[in-house]
Amino acid sequence: MAIPEKWDVTADVVVCGFGAAGVAAAVTAHDLGAKVVLLEKAPRGEHGGNTKVAGQGYLNTSSADEAVEYLTALCGPYTVPETMIRVWADEMGRNNDWLASLGGDPQEHQHQPVGIEFPDLPGHTCVHKFHDGPTYGYSYTWQRFESLVLQRPIEVLYQTPARNLIQSETGREILGVRADRDGRPINIQARRGVVLTCGGFENNQEMIRNYLPGIPYCYTSGSPYNEGDGITMAMSVGADLWHMNNYAGPSMALKVPEVRTSFSMQALHFSKKMPGGMIVVGPDGRRFADEKFKTRHGKVPVNGRWLPLATPCPMYMIFDHTLFAGGPLYDKHPSHGWTQIVERYEWSENNSAELAKGWVKRADTVAELAGLIGLDPAALADTVRDWNRGCDEGKDAAFGRRMMLEPIAVGPYYAIELSPSMLNTQGGPRRNERAQIVRPDSTPIPRLYSAGELGSIYSYLYQGTGNIGECLAFGRIAGRNAAAEMPWG
Ligand SMILES: Cc1cc2nc3c(=O)[nH]c(=O)nc-3n(C[C@H](O)[C@H](O)[C@H](O)COP(=O)(O)OP(=O)(O)OC[C@H]3O[C@@H](n4cnc5c(N)ncnc54)[C@H](O)[C@@H]3O)c2cc1C
Repeated sequence: MAIPEKWDVTADVVVCGFGAAGVAAAVTAHDLGAKVVLLEKAPRGEHGGNTKVAGQGYLNTSSADEAVEYLTALCGPYTVPETMIRVWADEMGRNNDWLASLGGDPQEHQHQPVGIEFPDLPGHTCVHKFHDGPTYGYSYTWQRFESLVLQRPIEVLYQTPARNLIQSETGREILGVRADRDGRPINIQARRGVVLTCGGFENNQEMIRNYLPGIPYCYTSGSPYNEGDGITMAMSVGADLWHMNNYAGPSMALKVPEVRTSFSMQALHFSKKMPGGMIVVGPDGRRFADEKFKTRHGKVPVNGRWLPLATPCPMYMIFDHTLFAGGPLYDKHPSHGWTQIVERYEWSENNSAELAKGWVKRADTVAELAGLIGLDPAALADTVRDWNRGCDEGKDAAFGRRMMLEPIAVGPYYAIELSPSMLNTQGGPRRNERAQIVRPDSTPIPRLYSAGELGSIYSYLYQGTGNIGECLAFGRIAGRNAAAEMPWG
């Protein structure tokens, strides 16, 4: 991208993306004396990315040596350089001190058990999950992060997506960012450095098809603004990529064109037992799992390895009238998730509005229902018959399901299409110990940094709260190294 004759905005450090990673980078660079401009694609109020709607937990590890062991084990055969793991482990243990030094109120989750995701792996006792303020869940932690930016003279340009990195022809240094504002391009000069913190590719279906294993499409329960822009920008200036096939998913959810993000179905939360019969089938009209879809952030054990849950698309939740009449099919309690917290769609108490919209399909017989959703009527009728027989006998011979062992017996019958859904992607430009984005030969692209889920360190297994923890850790590293660059020009 050619160097512009005139810069519209000038800063020392330009940070692209106002989520947790952007906050940590911007605040750190600012507090070291840099003039910081923060670009955000979403309008004010919809900024915050996945961080805004997350479960709000962040990891603060207790022992760096144990943390090294644990992350090494989490990476398994998808190894990550030891030096990166060490930096992660050292910095992750400083998240609480950093937040507290800025007036935060770190509180350890009081859940029992504490949520160690892989207690069989060495080093797991390093896991300690925290949130800020009196309650776990939406939204104190995000409010704290956001306030750290807003209480400083950091200029935030909302609705200003970064589009291109401006690179010098000679040294290949990153000199600034071209962004869109009010329908026209603007050039933002970064005299010391640019930090990309614009999240993952949860809403870029082409990248999902190309990079995520075994799924033709997937929908997010997080921000609709994360479209892989940071990946495209970094690739355009020669960045290497890593961990593109790793993501926090899949789970199963309803996605409709009218709403940007996915709906989590109450009947699939077995903890909140609903009356009536329900199974999930694939395109052949057959069940493929126990419907609990219990995973560790999307992965299930298979022959001693962890693989993403199988999602033969399209999938359908098939259920009877007892379940339909048993209350709202959607769990709208606003604890986390973009659909609950930002979209705030009012699902009808008796599901009638969603039936009228065609999100829920209904037919008098199972065979008719199959015809309506394009499944083989004989196969679906056979599956329902088998399921009902199992319920009568008190056991699910095929998949060993033990809960909600209720027959699909009371017509009319219903179907909801389920799609693979996810929290976030982990892949993106590869970064080094200094949070610099590197080329395939591992040399850094001068003055270009990243943090957060855009190229996260997690290559295989994921420990819950590790993402926001990493945003804070690598956000600080990126912020301080970018601020320490000699200004150009
Ligand atoms: C429902 C849910 C629950 C979760 N719970 C947890 C949890 O409890 N703990 C945990 O650790 N992780 C959790 N995660 C994952 C975690 O939220 C994310 O991985 C993390 O918040 C990512 O932070 P980030 O700063 O990298 O990106 P984000 O928070 O997604 O922020 C990226 C920002 O960049 C902006 N942006 C995008 N493109 C551009 C562009 N071109 N120019 C400028 N701005 C741009 C976006 O609008 C967004 O504001 C959860 C995720 C979801 C969806």
